[in-house]
Amino acid sequence: MTKTDFHPFHVLIPAAGTGTRAGGGIPKQYRPMAGKPVLRHTIEKFLSLANVKSLRVIIDPAQEDAYRAAVSGLDLPPPVMGADTRKQSVYNGIKNIPDTSNEDILLIHDAARPLVNTKDILNLAARTHETHAATLACPVADSLLLENADLPRDHILSVQTPQGFRLSLIRQAHEMFKDDNNFTDDAGLVRAMGHHVATVPGSRMNFKITTEDDFLMAEKIISAAVETRTGMGFDVHAFDPAPVKSIRIGGIDIPHTRALLGHSDADVALHALTDAILGTISAGDIGTHFPPSNPDWKAADSAIFLKESLRLLTAQGGTLVHADLTLICEHPKIGPHRDAMQKRIADILCVPPNRISIKATTSEGLGFTGRGEGIAAQAIVTVKIYG
Ligand code: MG
Repeated sequence: MTKTDFHPFHVLIPAAGTGTRAGGGIPKQYRPMAGKPVLRHTIEKFLSLANVKSLRVIIDPAQEDAYRAAVSGLDLPPPVMGADTRKQSVYNGIKNIPDTSNEDILLIHDAARPLVNTKDILNLAARTHETHAATLACPVADSLLLENADLPRDHILSVQTPQGFRLSLIRQAHEMFKDDNNFTDDAGLVRAMGHHVATVPGSRMNFKITTEDDFLMAEKIISAAVETRTGMGFDVHAFDPAPVKSIRIGGIDIPHTRALLGHSDADVALHALTDAILGTISAGDIGTHFPPSNPDWKAADSAIFLKESLRLLTAQGGTLVHADLTLICEHPKIGPHRDAMQKRIADILCVPPNRISIKATTSEGLGFTGRGEGIAAQAIVTVKIYG
C-alpha cells in the first residue's frame, strides 16, 4: 500500500444484541469460540490495522461484566451504552466518536462477523473515501424463491458489514430518521436519504453468526488457523550455605534447612516455566525481561515473571494448554509438596491443575545435583496460538 492509499477511519462495533440463537445460552458476541469470545475476535481484527483512529464498542449495560471479561487486556476506551434498537445504539455510538472532523470516515461493523478479512476492510475504507458511503456486499450463490416466484439472483447482493460513511453523512441520516425503526442497517438509512451507497465485493467467509450452524462453521474456520507450539526452559540455582527454615520451589515455601541463591526468590521451577513460555513466542528469556542488574527484582516473587510470560503469550493470541515440569535434586523431597505446587502454578497460570504436571527425580548421586550443590529444573509447555 502506498502512502496515498492509507485511509484512516473510526470504527463502531454494535454489540448490544441479546440474541442467543447461536447457542451456548449467552448472547452470541460473548460466546467463546476457538479460545476467545466472538466479539474479541472481531475487535482484534480491527486493532491489527494501523488505519484505526478510534474504536468504540456499543454494549447492553446489562452485559457490562461479560464485555469487560471479553476485552480484558485490550487497549480500548470505555464502551458506549446501547439503546432499545440497533439503530438507536449506533446513533449513541456516532455521538460518542472522539473530537473529529465531519470529513472523517466511520466504519460500522457487526460484532458477529469475526471472519471479515483485513484486505476487504481496507478496500471498503478506500471506496468510502471516494464515494462517501459504501458497503461490503456479496453475490448470492443459492437460487431464491419468493412465494413460488423465481427471483433474478444475478441482480441480488447479500449486504454485509463493515459499512463505511463520511461521518457528516451518517450523522445526518440518523438524525433524519431518528424515529423510524424500519431500517436493518446503516446503508439503508443513507439510501433512504437519496444518497448512493457503493458496493465493494466482500467474501462469503464474512458471514454473520446467527444460528448454531453459523457458530460451528466460524469456529471450524478459525480453529483451522490455530498453531500448536512447544517451548522448553531449563534453570539451575545453587544452594546458599547459610542455614534457613524454608526454600521456595514451584511458588510455595517448603520446610528445608537450605535455600537457593539468586537475585530474585530463586524459584528454579518458576524460572524454567517462564523461559518455556517465552520460548513459545520467541520472546527471549527471563533475563531479557527481568535483568538481574535491575534492583526492582531483588528478592522478587518469581510469580511476577511467570505471569508476565503468560501476559506476553496472551498478547500474541496464545493460550497455555499444558506444562510439564521436572525438578532434579536429592533434597528436599518434592513428592509431599507436589499437589500444593501444582495448585499454586495452576493459579498463577489461570489453568485447571490437571494442565500442570510436576515430576521430580534425583540424579543418583551424580553431578552437582547429586552432590547436593543445587537444584535443576526443566519445563516443556504446549500452547495454542490463534491466528
Ligand atoms: Mg533462575
